[in-house]
Amino acid sequence: MFDNLGHYIRELIKGNNFFSPKVIYRYSIITLATMHLLNGVFFFFASSILLMIVNLAISAMLFSTMLPLIEKHELINIYILLLLDLVVIIFVENLLLGWDSGYSSYYYTAVASTFYFSYLNKSKDGSRHALPLALSLLIILCYLFNYFLTEHIQPILPISSMFWHQALFFFNTVTAFAIMIVFSYLFIWEIQHKNNILTDQNTLLDELAHKDPLTKLLNRRSMNELINERMEQLKKSGKRFTMILGDIDDFKKVNDTYGHDAGDQVLIAVADTISRFTSLEDAVCRWGGEEILILITDPIEMAAVKAEKIRKAIEENVVNFEGRDIQITMTFGIAESIPGYKIEHLIQQADDKLYYGKKHGKNRVVIDLRPLD
Ligand code: GH3
Ligand code: MG
Ligand code: MG
Repeated sequence: MFDNLGHYIRELIKGNNFFSPKVIYRYSIITLATMHLLNGVFFFFASSILLMIVNLAISAMLFSTMLPLIEKHELINIYILLLLDLVVIIFVENLLLGWDSGYSSYYYTAVASTFYFSYLNKSKDGSRHALPLALSLLIILCYLFNYFLTEHIQPILPISSMFWHQALFFFNTVTAFAIMIVFSYLFIWEIQHKNNILTDQNTLLDELAHKDPLTKLLNRRSMNELINERMEQLKKSGKRFTMILGDIDDFKKVNDTYGHDAGDQVLIAVADTISRFTSLEDAVCRWGGEEILILITDPIEMAAVKAEKIRKAIEENVVNFEGRDIQITMTFGIAESIPGYKIEHLIQQADDKLYYGKKHGKNRVVIDLRPLD
């Protein structure tokens, strides 16, 4: 159990987990009811039987009527009820026991919680800002009025023992500060949690914008941006690169024979195989349906060696789909970048060579448009 609790708290701190508003409400009511219960026990020992009964009765009321309300009512209404309950109790206890009983610290807690609970309710209108401010101003008025009265009226039911009187002040002050610390942590953890969600969503959006959803390769737009960048580098520093355009041979037959899902699996396998042969400086993109465009950060001679390795690996890689083996081949056309070339021109060259390879038996890498053996 403690292992689970430890894990849960670690996840909270990292922002991977957070409570739903209902859970926060439930635990807030339970905390408030438990505090009244503890107050009841305290007053029993302090021999204030009337206050003991009042606190136990409020605790029982919170447990029995407030908890079920969470399921049935708007959370903001429950919050206003709880706040009213809290302020009335602070007010009355201060009159009964005196200002130095420590109950006044809960006014600060009430202000902090007002903002937190309004935030939790996530209303779309302005009430998230206006309501807590209005309630806080009321709390401040209550605080001042309560102070004024206690200055002019003697405590109605003072605790006779100095020890229990100071113990009550100590308990109330520490509890009020502890509750504010808990609310502050809840705020931090919720922000952390929301940040994590936003980061995940950004990563996803980034993937959607730059990658092909099926193969996870770069999409056409990203590849165009990258080629543009490399063209600029080529002009400035003479760093050459090579484009390889590959097309799966007779892919239509794969779809017709094994089905479209099998075709998709083959595309994923082809993407994985090609990615294994490319370095971090290279880039692979799904250029069209079953056409893959590869940018190799090497001159054409070295790129041709890579292309041949890829061609061979694809030929040898058998894709198993639902118990059936699918074997495919791919044809490649290669074109080297030349300063001043337009992207379209470069790709067209690779495409011409690819077409030439298709015409001359497929499953090959074409570097030059000269007769093939
Ligand atoms: P060739 O050797 O001349 O390239 O012949 P081919 O059959 O591969 O060429 P063709 O262009 O006639 O067919 C390409 C096929 O690729 C047609 C299309 O249905 C299929 N295709 C395109 N995108 C996808 C995809 O995302 N998934 C699947 N399963 N098939 C696709
Ligand atoms: Mg094809
Ligand atoms: Mg094609």
